[in-house]
Amino acid sequence: MDKLLITAIEALVRNTSDIFFIKDKNLIYRAASMPFVRMAGKESLEEIVGFTDTEIFEDKRLAARYIADDCRLFNGGKDLIDYVEPITDDNGNARYGSTSKYILRDENGRTIGVLGITKDITKEYLAKQRYQQEFGYLFELPADTYAVCYIDVDDWRIITQRRQNIQDGTIQECQTVEDMIEYALESIVEVDCDAAAFFRNLTAEKLYEIYSSGRRAISFKYQRKLSDGSSRWIRSKVDFLADVDSGHLCIMLSAKDIDKAECEQQKLAEAAKLDLMTMLLNHESSMESIKSVLEHESSSQHALFMIDIDNFKALNDTLGHKAGDEFLIALSKELKKNFRESDILGRIGGDEFFVLMRNVTEQERVKRKADEILETIQSVASKYLQVDLSGSVGISMYPKNGTTLDELYSKSDEALYEAKRTGKNKYIIS
Ligand code: GH3
Ligand code: MG
Repeated sequence: MDKLLITAIEALVRNTSDIFFIKDKNLIYRAASMPFVRMAGKESLEEIVGFTDTEIFEDKRLAARYIADDCRLFNGGKDLIDYVEPITDDNGNARYGSTSKYILRDENGRTIGVLGITKDITKEYLAKQRYQQEFGYLFELPADTYAVCYIDVDDWRIITQRRQNIQDGTIQECQTVEDMIEYALESIVEVDCDAAAFFRNLTAEKLYEIYSSGRRAISFKYQRKLSDGSSRWIRSKVDFLADVDSGHLCIMLSAKDIDKAECEQQKLAEAAKLDLMTMLLNHESSMESIKSVLEHESSSQHALFMIDIDNFKALNDTLGHKAGDEFLIALSKELKKNFRESDILGRIGGDEFFVLMRNVTEQERVKRKADEILETIQSVASKYLQVDLSGSVGISMYPKNGTTLDELYSKSDEALYEAKRTGKNKYIIS
């Protein structure tokens, strides 16, 4: 044989990172690469060359399979090309290999051996499996998914898409990526959300940047207007894939309906802010809301009312705790009517409440409101004649009495204490 060819094959066998071997017609190994040696659990080539599979491999079933494969190859007379099979790597880890086996013949066409080569294709194989799974969506959408859109990032075009109605709404079909972006931006309810930012910055460069960072999927939830005019919560997912045919970077963009779960979650979050007995804001959330008003409306005047029921313990003691609860619930309902939607009314705890009356221009209005509160308490208390119930109110003004909630809180508290001390059933403005 050509000397150069022999040298080249020797170099290839010595250096390749593939699993490579040559067996003669008796299936005795004549050459092998180091990855083959390691795969067989051996250390040197001497433990391979001159031996058969049965002698080399401890796993006798595996050895028998290799031999049977070779016999089938010889009997069929046809090479085996790119046969994907599970293999183990040097460290005994499970991998996927693509094996080809070629029959070696002499000049008369007689079989003289077999040449085998196995490439580790684990990465590509897994990517392809994932790709096929994602691709399945284009044939059948899951019941909760409005649409999927398969986009070629390199060619910047929509390769294909599929959509369906859920109830009566769906997402509009688009012909170009630009149309799709424009339509998405028009349909997203909240201008400042993650989804809007994603679509606003959607370019091939941006997608490559995300892909290069190692991320293979991103997702975000947002409210979107649908074709039937309704707004629903949607989760969009962007899966990055290397297209099996073109090798181009592609994304599979999907939009799934998560409205029911999202609304339930929001309700729970809302409930966590409320005092469950009176359904007023609880202490913590009313403090937060008040702080936020003081911060954002610092140029207006506001009044902080602190209200405490007089002799409330006597109601509990005389008519029972349940009657006490009923009183607090009824009073909360009535107090709500005394204030605007935009005012902040919360239950501090026990028989204490506070209200931030926003944007008050004159002290007279604060006084009138305080009288109204006392009347409201009287009117709810009138159902419980056995007990002498009334209310005391302490009031502080922003910014006159302080500019932080802490300052206002302690001023209102002092005024309330003063109202109690000087006879109850009254209000005091600090
Ligand atoms: P004062 O006139 O000085 O305000 O005295 P008071 O009797 O109203 O008693 P105080 O404000 O010091 O305490 C409020 C009482 O309210 C204490 C507690 O037994 C009762 N309480 C606290 N939370 C609840 C509740 O959720 N339901 C009922 N029924 N009673 C409560
Ligand atoms: Mg009280």
